[in-house]
Amino acid sequence: MVAFDDNGKIDILGLLPDELEAEILKLGEKRFRAGQIFDWLHVKRVSSFDEMTNLSVQLRNLLNEKFCLKSLFVSKKLESHTDNTVKYLYELEDGNHVESVIMEYNYGNTICVSTQVGCKMGCRFCASTIAGFKRDLTSSEILGQIYASERDSGRKISGVVLMGIGEPMDNFDNVVNFLEVLSCPKGFMSLRHVSVSTCGIVPRIYELAEKKLGITLSISLHASNNKSRSEIMPVNDRYDINELLAACRYYFKVTGRRISFEYALIDGHNDSMEDARELAELLGGFVCHVNIIPVNKIKERNYHSDRKSANRFRGYLEKLGINATVRRTLGADIDAACGQLRREYEI
Ligand code: SAH
Repeated sequence: MVAFDDNGKIDILGLLPDELEAEILKLGEKRFRAGQIFDWLHVKRVSSFDEMTNLSVQLRNLLNEKFCLKSLFVSKKLESHTDNTVKYLYELEDGNHVESVIMEYNYGNTICVSTQVGCKMGCRFCASTIAGFKRDLTSSEILGQIYASERDSGRKISGVVLMGIGEPMDNFDNVVNFLEVLSCPKGFMSLRHVSVSTCGIVPRIYELAEKKLGITLSISLHASNNKSRSEIMPVNDRYDINELLAACRYYFKVTGRRISFEYALIDGHNDSMEDARELAELLGGFVCHVNIIPVNKIKERNYHSDRKSANRFRGYLEKLGINATVRRTLGADIDAACGQLRREYEI
């Protein structure tokens, strides 16, 4: 996607190979130069045009004039002593901050990236939304989190989840552009290893389905009826559970991809046998998977849960024929849940 920064320069990391080629041809350069530049950006991952040593000085100057190449700076890095989780607080060029977390699984390293600075959605249990919303991230800033984290950690990343700060479907164009650049023929990875999580912005789920990107869609459901969901997720007043599940059915019909429903368990709010029964009824007939997350404590709220409650709730669901797992808690010693580090830093 051709997007400009405040100085009118094109954000080069957000360009797909054919878009980059078109821009390079406009400069009167040969087509193959675009391939070389793409390689410097996405394979060698330089942080300035001056490092592109197989280009003439004249072309490098021209690139500096027409394009910007955004960088992220590590402001803070926390490493878990128990499970190799690493959490980064990145400073963006305008001084804003976002978080990314590398998690180690037996099949490889997955990174959780942010899509916005802050969030408008107002979920009651989420630290990312408390100080409100500042701005969308560009696709290059989303991609930049992956490149910067690989560079700093020296670890190869083989999966990406869009579950950091922000609501991906509220920054739709940049997120889709990011996914397209990530998975283009010379790009970083196939979208089979990418999950996008949403609190349920229904029109965007339909739009995403039409893109047929092959990602896994995660829905932050967290409740089994509208009353309970609206109490913790204001978005439910705009798009209720029935509309949301209709969009999910459509998504599955069009893409054939199983949907993952996230369920943040809160003791005394959504953890009863009755909640499980309602959830099973709601999801009956769906090709899906429920991921139970014992709610992470944030200091602003009084919500609690633990693995024991989560396992009990999983037991209820399994008896009712619903496929469910309890999410492994990673990085507990470094407060790895999204939004917590940025809040401590900025406020
Ligand atoms: N806005 C998107 C993605 C970011 S949040 C979404 O809502 O899906 C990523 C996931 O973490 C969501 O499922 C969100 O509901 C969950 N989450 C946020 N704060 C949490 C907390 N304190 N405990 C457990 N899960 C939380």
